[in-house]
Amino acid sequence: MVEPKYVAPTGTSDILYPEVERRNCIVDKARRLLDLYCYQEMIVPTFEHTELFVRGIGEATDIVSKEMYTFGDQRGSSFALRPEATSGIVRAFIEHSLYTKSMPQKYFCIGPMFRKEKPQAGRYREFYQIDVELLGAAQPSVDAEVIALLMHIFQDLGLKNLTLKLNSMGCRICRAPYREELVGYLRKVEKGLCRNCRERIKKNPLRVFDCKVEGCRHLLREAPELISVLCAQCQEHFEEVKKYLGVMGLDYELDPKVVRGLDYYTRSVFEVVSPSLGAQNVIGAGGRYDYLVEDCGGPPIAGLGFAIGIDRTSLAMKRSGLKGYEDKSLALFIITTSHHLRFETIKRLDILRHQGFSAEMDHLSRSMKAQMRLADKLRAKIVIFIGEDEIRKGVLGVRDMATSSQEEVPFEDLLDYLYQKLGRKEKWGARG
Ligand code: ATP
Ligand code: MG
Repeated sequence: MVEPKYVAPTGTSDILYPEVERRNCIVDKARRLLDLYCYQEMIVPTFEHTELFVRGIGEATDIVSKEMYTFGDQRGSSFALRPEATSGIVRAFIEHSLYTKSMPQKYFCIGPMFRKEKPQAGRYREFYQIDVELLGAAQPSVDAEVIALLMHIFQDLGLKNLTLKLNSMGCRICRAPYREELVGYLRKVEKGLCRNCRERIKKNPLRVFDCKVEGCRHLLREAPELISVLCAQCQEHFEEVKKYLGVMGLDYELDPKVVRGLDYYTRSVFEVVSPSLGAQNVIGAGGRYDYLVEDCGGPPIAGLGFAIGIDRTSLAMKRSGLKGYEDKSLALFIITTSHHLRFETIKRLDILRHQGFSAEMDHLSRSMKAQMRLADKLRAKIVIFIGEDEIRKGVLGVRDMATSSQEEVPFEDLLDYLYQKLGRKEKWGARG
């Protein structure tokens, strides 16, 4: 083994088999459900003008103040690798005047996000999200429907014992007096707070609830809660959301400390916690953002959404013993008994692949025995032998690996024979 000259940057990773299979399964299943719930895919850039994130996410958030990867170009413009996808989708929604079309509109985006965080288990600098957004509906039934979709995706993946945490962040009307009240409380306990939280008192007091420092968490237990001072409309909205969740049989835990790390949230906010992860145990989270479209320069259009952390979801599945994918097997392996028959072999292989069978052959001039071992390793269902004898007779040796029975099949009957053995499918892929 050689000492690698280059290694992946800290906080990034190469996603290899079988991890990549589990992730593909997460994405495939989510896509299927997103289709069922009438969402449309939107692919937005992995970098945007820095200003969009500053405006959208908020200057005083950790993401913007500490975690963004920003870079410039020759003209002096500043760009940032996207730390989340909502801002990009909202920008596209405005840029393409999608708000002129009928509402609500439902979009999703899947891909990597980038945050300059301290790497640890479940926290990376490049990570992957399934981001889901619904624009143009302020009704509480929509909050419940979006939360139901989030839970449906996790349920479909087989994840159990998840906790859905729910809170309301109110609106501008109820937040302003609350903010004053909170600042008053924080000033009283200021000495016991970490440096970050002391800064937050000035810039963005609500963010203190996001702090992971135990001392701060302890002091915040006694802090006033926004949930108990919501304005009448926000209170009513929240009650309705809970009722809709109730009729769908969705359990939730009210948690007034859930405030989310982004500035744009209003009213419903939620997190899904997995019991199988350690400190980084939130596998999906989101909320309503009724001012964001307007803040980004669009018309006043309500919205809400969530993002599933694919990395943590995969880890939670792994810890729960959920593979998520089926072991691969191969429909056919073609063995050739003589090296000079490899032209014939590759021709047959090509025909069979075009017929939709997953098929493989040996290119390294292995012995018959070694080729057989390879076929076994690849879990081939059928092995086809091509030798001098077979060519002369116009047949192929065909062995059913499950029964070890072998017979000769004429060239022209091979496809029918295989369809009969393996079943006729549109595609006889590797997961047969
Ligand atoms: P946390 O409180 O765990 O830092 P967050 O509030 O920053 O999460 P969001 O911005 O809401 O997270 O992103 C939604 C989801 O994306 C999270 O619940 C998590 O599963 C995942 N996620 C966020 N940041 C990271 C990261 N640095 N590495 C891996 N996954 C992440
Ligand atoms: Mg974070």
